[in-house]
Amino acid sequence: LAHRLEGIPPTIFTTMSALAARTQSVNLGQGFPDVDGPPEVIARAVHALHSGANQYAPGPGVPELRQAVARHQVRHYGLELDPDSQVVVTTGATEGIAAALLGLVDPGDEVVVLEPYYDSYTAMIQMAGGVRRPVTLRAPDFRLDVDELRAAVTPRTRFVLLNSPHNPTGTVLTRAELQAVADVAIAHDLVVITDEVYEHLVYAGSEHVPIATLPGMFERTLSLSSAGKSYSFTGWKVGWATGPAPLVGAVLAAKQWLTFTSGSPLQPAVALALDEAGEFPASLAAELGAKRDLLCAGLAEVGLDVRVPEGTYFATTDISALGWADGTAFCLALPERAGVVAIPTQGFYDSDAGRHLVRWAFCKDRTVIEEGLARLARAD
Ligand code: PMP
Ligand code: GLN
Repeated sequence: LAHRLEGIPPTIFTTMSALAARTQSVNLGQGFPDVDGPPEVIARAVHALHSGANQYAPGPGVPELRQAVARHQVRHYGLELDPDSQVVVTTGATEGIAAALLGLVDPGDEVVVLEPYYDSYTAMIQMAGGVRRPVTLRAPDFRLDVDELRAAVTPRTRFVLLNSPHNPTGTVLTRAELQAVADVAIAHDLVVITDEVYEHLVYAGSEHVPIATLPGMFERTLSLSSAGKSYSFTGWKVGWATGPAPLVGAVLAAKQWLTFTSGSPLQPAVALALDEAGEFPASLAAELGAKRDLLCAGLAEVGLDVRVPEGTYFATTDISALGWADGTAFCLALPERAGVVAIPTQGFYDSDAGRHLVRWAFCKDRTVIEEGLARLARAD
C-alpha cells in the first residue's frame, strides 16, 4: 500500500453495512433512504438511456445540468453563476471533495476542518499531502468554538474545510458561526471548501446559510453539493462544485484525471429534478423532521442521551448513560444484543472526544425505525 494511504482504515460505512447484512440487523447505520426519489426524475433517466445519452459527457458536465445548478443557486441563495466557468459536475460530492483537495492543496498546506469529520475528508487531505487541523464540535451541543477556530490557524493554513449541515452531528451552523468562519478566512486569506450536501435537509427552526453568500466570501469559497441527499438518489453519484472560476477550474483540472467525465444519462435527469421537482426536497425535509422526532424520542426512551439534530439524516447519542464507555464496542455488540446497526462516531475524530458517541440514521421508512426502536427496547 502506498504511503499516502497508510493509517487510513476501510470506511466504517462498508464495515457496518456488511455487518448489518450478515446479521440481518435493522440498518440505522449508513445514511441512505429506503425510498427512492421522484418517479418523473427516474423516467427522465430512462428516456435519456433510450435516446442516445450513452457516450462521454463534456468534461465539466452536460450544459443542461450546469445551467440547472446555476438556476438553483440563484433561486435559493441569490448567487449568480456562469454555468460555463463556475459550475462543474462531479461523480457525487465525494469526487468533488477529492478533486477540490487534489486540485488545490499543496504538500504541507494546513486545512482547518471541523471534527468530527466525514471520513473522506481525512483520507483526501492525506492523499493530497495536506495536514489537517481539527476544530472540534463538542458534545453535548456540538457548536463551533470560535476561539478554537482562531487558534487552529497558523502561517501554513490555507484552507477551511467546512460542512454544514454537519455529518455526523446534525449541527447546522448559524449565520453568526458562519460569519466567524468568514472573518477568520478573510483575515488570513484562506479558501473555504464547503460541503453542503444536506443543504435542503434542515428542520423547523433552523436555516441553512451557504457561506458563499456572506459578504466577501463568494470569491474565496468553493461549494460542493449533490443530488444524492436532496433527491434521494444516493446511488446516482451526481454532484457539483460551484464558485469562482479559478477554484472551479482547479476542481476540473483534477477531475479530468480522476474520472474525465461523469455518467451521461443521469445528468439530464438531475437537471429535471432541480428545475421541475424543486418542491421535493422541502417535502422530504418535512417527512425527515417527523422521523427525526420519532427516532430521537425512541432513543431517549431506551435511556440514551440524545442530541436532537437541526439537519442531516443523523442523530447522535451519548451511550455513557447506558453504562457503556466505548461506542465502537457498543456498535459491534449491538447486532447480537439487539439486531440493530449504528455507527460509532469515534472513527470521525483524531482526538478521543467521540469515544462515547454513536450515530443513528433516521432517513428510513417509519416501520424500519419503529422496528429498530422496538428491538432496542427489548435488548438486555
Ligand atoms: N459529504 C457528506 C457530509 C456526506 O454525508 C456525503 C454522503 N455520504 C457525501 C459528502 C458524499 O456525497 P455523494 O454521495 O454525493 O458522493
Ligand atoms: N453519507 C452517508 C453516511 O454518512 C453514506 C456515506 C458512504 O456510504 N460513504 O452514512
